[in-house]
Amino acid sequence: MSRQERLKEPGFRESVDLMFNRAVALMDLTPGLEEKIRVCNATYTVRFGVRLRGGIQTFTGYRSVHSEHMEPVKGGIRYAPTVNHNEVEALAALMTYKCALVEAPFGGSKGGLCIDPRDYEEHELEQITRRFTYELAKRDLIHPSQNVPAPDMGTGEREMAWIADQYRRMNTTDISSNACVTGKPPHAGGIQGRVEATGRGVQYALQEFFRYPEDVAKANMEGKLDGKRIVVQGLGNVGYHAAKFLAAEDGALITGIIERDGALIDERGLDVEAVHSWIARHGGVSGYADAQYVKDSMSVLEHDCDILIPAAIEGVIHLGNAAHINANLIIEAANGPVTAGADDILREKGVVIIPDLYANAGGVTVSYFEWVKNLSHIRFGRMQRRQEESRHQLVVDELERLSRDSGIGWTLSPDFKDRYLRGAGELELVRSGLDDTMRTAYQAMRAVWHERDDVPDLRVAAYLVGIERVVASYRAKGL
Ligand code: NAD
Repeated sequence: MSRQERLKEPGFRESVDLMFNRAVALMDLTPGLEEKIRVCNATYTVRFGVRLRGGIQTFTGYRSVHSEHMEPVKGGIRYAPTVNHNEVEALAALMTYKCALVEAPFGGSKGGLCIDPRDYEEHELEQITRRFTYELAKRDLIHPSQNVPAPDMGTGEREMAWIADQYRRMNTTDISSNACVTGKPPHAGGIQGRVEATGRGVQYALQEFFRYPEDVAKANMEGKLDGKRIVVQGLGNVGYHAAKFLAAEDGALITGIIERDGALIDERGLDVEAVHSWIARHGGVSGYADAQYVKDSMSVLEHDCDILIPAAIEGVIHLGNAAHINANLIIEAANGPVTAGADDILREKGVVIIPDLYANAGGVTVSYFEWVKNLSHIRFGRMQRRQEESRHQLVVDELERLSRDSGIGWTLSPDFKDRYLRGAGELELVRSGLDDTMRTAYQAMRAVWHERDDVPDLRVAAYLVGIERVVASYRAKGL
């Protein structure tokens, strides 16, 4: 991007505000309410020292609370050297609208620590995470009923387990202490299906989009996901799971994978599992033999494809490259990958964008299930599963008896019996709840998109649905 273009480009925070403004311009809000909803309620900055490698290192972290119209507030904690005040506030604002859109009963929050986790050993990261947790928890910025973090870029199950354990040490008599953070490993109070949840949600979102031929036609495509060419940026938690499920279960071809150190292209479809384990072993995609390697990774965002999935960081599609994007559909698995300026250019080009608010809401949705599980202290399905199986067994036995007694001689296929007789465990229930959430939210968005002439795209529709729900909640409180 040239310097001139960079000057015209709004930052992430401004982009979120611009998108918010576009939606509220179409609403009839009480004077002042618009401003109340838009601003972040509070952002806490903490600087703390940790004794490491024979000296003391100082770290800077943030926890921003955007809206407390519902509590607890919720949002991930990101570890990256680029984390800053504005970024955390933008991400917290997105969380408010996202939770409202998918009907997760939370306000919006987000946290971040300025650190490159790759520079530290595991035991050092644990020390740093525990200290950061202490600083946030003593101000109720981590708390089961006030503020519940989750993983984001640079953090995962491991960090969430440390956070939960640290909180528990500080609140030894709190029976609900496990609900202070989500995204924990299943053996430490987590839930099945949380790690895959955001990528799984991207898959469910695309499946739902492809159920509506008129929406698919708006993106100048036809047919199903099968055979669609997909380029993914970022093969981390979200990008890896989305790519893996779309290739293995929907027949899509992952024709491009973009990482920090370069990109891989193969029009026949890359082996996602093989690339993923290559990255785990070598720290990047370079050297991977079974595909064309492109050093200038950003150029591959412009590669010809049907669907582009930016799943890494914000602001990667901007005024400088939006006109050259060669995808029919962009699904924003990352938060804020398309700037407000790029959004205009892409709309004019006829590219359909499934917005971040909706597209990556799978994570918070399953986090919601985990939080409920922690508060209720029981695994989903534990009471019903065997009872459901025995009722199904009754039906199968009766069908087989009828067939035998009537002499018809029908037999149920073993595959049918297997699937019908198996009661739903936690993973099946989580996936079912996630699928339902993604479908319902898409339907709410597309209804607004199709019914209102003044709504130009799915992003404005998503903001409208989300903001209207926040407004309804404020109204119920008499504001
Ligand atoms: P992650 O750290 O697991 O993975 C990020 C991946 O992107 C890594 O493979 C990294 O190497 C790659 N990457 C980073 N910078 C890049 C660049 N400039 N070019 C190409 N690749 C780059 O993070 P994640 O949890 O998968 O999060 C990715 C995005 O999804 C973020 O925007 C995050 O806010 C969003 N998100 C994550 C979750 C979640 O549950 N983890 C939920 C909602 C939204």
